[in-house]
Amino acid sequence: MPTASSDRIRHVQLSSVVLPLEQPISDAKVLTGRQKPMTEIVLLFAEIRTEQDRHGIGFSYSKRAGGPAQYAHAKEIAGNLIGADPSDIAKIYDQLLWAGASVGRSGVATQAIAALDIALWDLKAKRADLPLAKLLGAHRDSVRAYNTSGGFLHAPLDEVKERATKSLADGIGGIKIKVGQPDTREDLRRVRAVREHLGADVPLMVDANQQWDRPTALRVGRALEEFDLVWIEEPLDAYDAEGHAHLAEQLDTPIATGEMLGSVTEHVRLIEARAADIIQPDAPRIGGITPFLRLATLADHHGLQLAPHFAMEIHLHLAATYPREPWVEHFEWLNPLFNERLETLDGRMLVPDRPGLGFTTSEQCRAWTVDAAEFGTA
Ligand SMILES: [Mg+2]
Repeated sequence: MPTASSDRIRHVQLSSVVLPLEQPISDAKVLTGRQKPMTEIVLLFAEIRTEQDRHGIGFSYSKRAGGPAQYAHAKEIAGNLIGADPSDIAKIYDQLLWAGASVGRSGVATQAIAALDIALWDLKAKRADLPLAKLLGAHRDSVRAYNTSGGFLHAPLDEVKERATKSLADGIGGIKIKVGQPDTREDLRRVRAVREHLGADVPLMVDANQQWDRPTALRVGRALEEFDLVWIEEPLDAYDAEGHAHLAEQLDTPIATGEMLGSVTEHVRLIEARAADIIQPDAPRIGGITPFLRLATLADHHGLQLAPHFAMEIHLHLAATYPREPWVEHFEWLNPLFNERLETLDGRMLVPDRPGLGFTTSEQCRAWTVDAAEFGTA
């Protein structure tokens, strides 16, 4: 049979990279004793090369545990890509899912696929010589950006205010701070202080990282109404769709959630329960760009807003394609892994004009590589 295109995948490289964080990070899960402070992020990088020497990179990640498992699963399935047409991403995605069907369609299994899927999309956009957002069809060339990294709970209030001022000066438009401490009065004290520091016009969000129960979330949520927040994030357990739905109905402040979910199917449950006003999928966590695009279509159909979680290097492109004005989360943590930087201006993050995702991995990224595996012909 004649084929519609002749290029084929000839080589896949997987790398496991351990990125140390500058200081241990604590959100509410640490203050309630559920987790230890985070000291590193483990990334799974995939690099795909074709016979015509086209090239794409993608990555997935895990925080605290799961990095070695993502890498191990990717090593088991990556060989399936050799000889495949890299443009047929949906077909390849299906093959990778079936290759790992025994361990399911969510979590670690699909997070391993995510690195490969993202690399395929990067490759496709580079072949078209377009930024990924343009290949997909963008609604905008920049996306409203907010800073999270300055508002964690290990930081004293003065430092949070200082870093918020710096973020705004750097062209980032909104500020998110962490709440969800065992003492809710302390949460309210910090929110009040930051709102007074920023003034009424700066978009401000809070994130409880799932640490309230239903009554606490409602009581604190009501107390937060006066601060005109853009959203309250993860007020409840990530899987409590019914609780989120009740809260969303009771409060004027929009409810945002979804970052912890590991598949589109889990998000569909949230959407069907009307659990959130703003959906926060994470492409590496739900299995890559292919499932993210399917979810985004569904979320728009249900009138939801979008604020993807973490990994701005990927999500900037995806947010740029969403019909409703989205937000993208600014985190500088992954910067050392790449040679390029994203620009922020007048509160927005600019879609880079470089083809694909617009990133190349740095020398530092290679220095932090703890293991690598190759498939096909280099
Ligand atoms: Mg969050």
